[in-house]
Amino acid sequence: MKNYIKHDEWNIIEEGFNPALNKVSESIFSIGNGRMGQRANFEERYGGESLQGSYVAGVYYPDKTRVGWWKNGYPEYFAKVLNAPSWIGIDVFVDGEPLDLHRLEILRFRRQLCMKDGYLSRSFTARFEDGREVAVEATRFCSLVDDECGALSYRISARNFDGRFVVIPYLDGGVRNMDSNYDETFWEYVAASTAPNRSVLTMRTKKTDFWVTTGMHYELLADEGRIQCSEQDVRRDDYIGKSVTFDLAAGQSIAVRKYAVVLSSENHPKADMEARASAMLDRVVAKGFDRMMAEQSEAWGQKWEESDIRIGGDIAAQQAIRFNIFQLHQTYSGEDERLNIGPKGFTGEKYGGATYWDTEAYCLPFYLATAPPAVAKNLLLYRYRHLPKAIENARKLGFDGGAALFPMVTMNGEECHNEWEITFEEIHRNGAIAFAIYNYVRYTGDDEYLADYGLEVLIGIARFWAQRVNWSEYRQRYVILGVTGPNEYENNVNNNWYTNTMAVWCLTYALEALPAVRHAWPAKYEAVITRTAFDERHETGTWETIVEKMYYPVDGERGIFLQQDGFLDKELVPAESLPAEQRPLNQHWSWDRILRSCYIKQADVLQGIYLLEDRFDLETIRRNVDFYEPLTVHESSLSPCVHAILAAKLGDEERAYQFYLRTARLDLDDYNNDTEDGLHITSMAGTWMSIVEGFAGMRVRDGRLHFSPMLPVKWQSYEFSIRFRGTVLTVKVSRSGVLLAHSGSDPLTVFVFGHPYRVPREASVELAGGHRI
Ligand code: BGC
Repeated sequence: MKNYIKHDEWNIIEEGFNPALNKVSESIFSIGNGRMGQRANFEERYGGESLQGSYVAGVYYPDKTRVGWWKNGYPEYFAKVLNAPSWIGIDVFVDGEPLDLHRLEILRFRRQLCMKDGYLSRSFTARFEDGREVAVEATRFCSLVDDECGALSYRISARNFDGRFVVIPYLDGGVRNMDSNYDETFWEYVAASTAPNRSVLTMRTKKTDFWVTTGMHYELLADEGRIQCSEQDVRRDDYIGKSVTFDLAAGQSIAVRKYAVVLSSENHPKADMEARASAMLDRVVAKGFDRMMAEQSEAWGQKWEESDIRIGGDIAAQQAIRFNIFQLHQTYSGEDERLNIGPKGFTGEKYGGATYWDTEAYCLPFYLATAPPAVAKNLLLYRYRHLPKAIENARKLGFDGGAALFPMVTMNGEECHNEWEITFEEIHRNGAIAFAIYNYVRYTGDDEYLADYGLEVLIGIARFWAQRVNWSEYRQRYVILGVTGPNEYENNVNNNWYTNTMAVWCLTYALEALPAVRHAWPAKYEAVITRTAFDERHETGTWETIVEKMYYPVDGERGIFLQQDGFLDKELVPAESLPAEQRPLNQHWSWDRILRSCYIKQADVLQGIYLLEDRFDLETIRRNVDFYEPLTVHESSLSPCVHAILAAKLGDEERAYQFYLRTARLDLDDYNNDTEDGLHITSMAGTWMSIVEGFAGMRVRDGRLHFSPMLPVKWQSYEFSIRFRGTVLTVKVSRSGVLLAHSGSDPLTVFVFGHPYRVPREASVELAGGHRI
């Protein structure tokens, strides 16, 4: 765990430069706008440790699956998010010497992420060996308003000398992936062009043939008067830019303004990309840096208005929740249904920028409550569009009749992960995808989604489960064999309680959705039945029998659900007795030892209890939490939030707070020693859930909002807003009670600790006393 980020409510601040932390900071200070994003690499060259990262949504490379022993059904490729041509670079030479913080004495350094207005800034003063001092102030952002554009301002000053400066704003297409096999490069040059102050570079990806056109336009701004300068084209392989030479006298400074556009052939015809890049550059240059910044601040203001969480009395917690919310918005804006949320967003290469079950199981609630309904709907439509590929995927594995197995890891609907235990066995993802449909409909009330899209997906998923179960003569029950549950520290287990439970839940939901759609939208229903060639009587009959006769592993004596068959054969030793130097286990133990142990990577039985909470009484929840929590090592960032929510449900404020801290500051304080690879974006939505569903106890039941708030002792108050069915409700929890306010045109009924309260139109109600707050 590290503790070098300054606590501040709205900013993430690093004071002083520690090269050993540079890669961690590059992740933490990442910026993005849903369409593109980048790590906080320096504009000028840096000879020290760095992970260069600039990413364009939807652009990936299908790396050939390489395994020692090929198994039928393996996906052909493993998708990699590609480090894309970078637009931020400015090489700087001072009297012929490179400005490189790795070689210079650093007198002052500050990196700051301004979350309120959505930009990254960095300033430093560095000294050459002979005493010449140069100061730099850099600001940059990826525009939310012009989402294919970014801009930066790089002000450079000669502090105590007269000198000759060469600055080279450039575009670099010669980029590599850190995780490439055998040093492979993934980009090929297509074309480049230059004009005064301007360079445009088009590169294409190998195999996938995505084209990315990156353009830049620079301006120089002297503080006062004019500065004579000369411009020359620079071109080396895939590096293209402008070399600009000028002299600065002691105390003088000059600012380089660099405007950039990044176009992808996913959004533009290849033949037009260069011309469009130039036209877009004309537009943003005419707008100007200051106006772009002002628009950026306004757009972020809007996002904060809709999704900020304000915590009174705990700056570290305040900073952390804003950081999580900020990074989620930077990753996904919801405007393009082809895009999704990679576990690392635009902050690193790990997890290949691909879509996991994380989206449905963790991210959806955040976007449902903090963004217009179209955003959450787009997340669902993403899977709907992939349904034919999910059917094909299931077919490759031997299922038929329209059974659909959605991929565990995907870019375009095809499975693209090459570990058998994940690809073949983590079939529980189908459950999360069905549950997301339920969650969306429950939250928005948009039942028609089922008729238009949802039912078709549910039929495909239910058909899969109906074939994946088998009848056990021995148990006289249906069983599900050979799976990996959410806890990836167990592979090829039989009857994972979570998987069996979710399978039955999916079948039940599909059985309920069928008559509901038939009744409300008969024509749409008929269309779905025809499209899916659904044999209603026969198929629903099978599903009903499975629902009735599914086997679940339980331990009657302890009154708990068993994670899988045979779980109690393990040696059950609480994780707290493990020596600290053996944690995390995945970095110290052999896989074989992990698999045999009782240690649980992430919530598994508890994940099921969290999703289907209303089925279980408090005592059942408590017994399961008490049994599984001591065995859980939380080596997935997705785990602590589920434990936080269940602890809050059980009224255990202290445990809920501990788990909250663990999820909220996971990256800021680098808890798992892996932030340098990128941020844990999808678990950030879990942090949001820990407050809204955890401390505030928000639930939706029968189309109504319910809360059962608690207030951590360390906090004076917390306040958040959620969108709900056409209104924005603000909830403030403080020692004096709960304040509810809303902006809608009709009164809103909200339940607090089970009691209904009517919040009048555009007004608030204050509930004081009598509550266990
Ligand atoms: C977790 C998975 C998750 C993946 C991507 C893994 O460590 O075990 O549940 O989908 O990370 O976040």
